[in-house]
Amino acid sequence: MSFAEQLKSQLNIVDVVSQYVRLKRSGAAHRFVGLCPFHSEKTPSFSVHSGNQFYYCFGCHATGDVFKFVQEMESLTFPEVLHTLAERNGIPVPQRQRPDDPEQQEKAAIFEMQEIAAQLFQDNLRGPCGAEARSYLQSRGVSKDSAD
Ligand SMILES: [Zn+2]
Repeated sequence: MSFAEQLKSQLNIVDVVSQYVRLKRSGAAHRFVGLCPFHSEKTPSFSVHSGNQFYYCFGCHATGDVFKFVQEMESLTFPEVLHTLAERNGIPVPQRQRPDDPEQQEKAAIFEMQEIAAQLFQDNLRGPCGAEARSYLQSRGVSKDSAD
């Protein structure tokens, strides 16, 4: 499990979003609503789902997971979001072993970057914003494993 996945499994999107948006439990199970922080509105159309750990705005269609939310709110890069959330929640960030050889260091950095990018793309594909892409892959007969 990557650090991003591990961190995500320890966070609840409802708690994180609540630090920015006043959320109320809605009638539906696992659903919380509040005023959207991404567009101006007077009636809440911003919805957070504690079951699938995604947010969605019925007004401006902003959507994503807990990382995307903090990324958008704080204008941070993905690695910065991981550090910020880990720090805020007292979760230790693993210190990667850095070899002395600069070539090895560069390789390690590239692998790390690929891992983070792959994670982000997979999350997008599996989330609500990936619905169209998923149905396209399905229509082409691409299996879930191959899509990953
Ligand atoms: Zn919105």
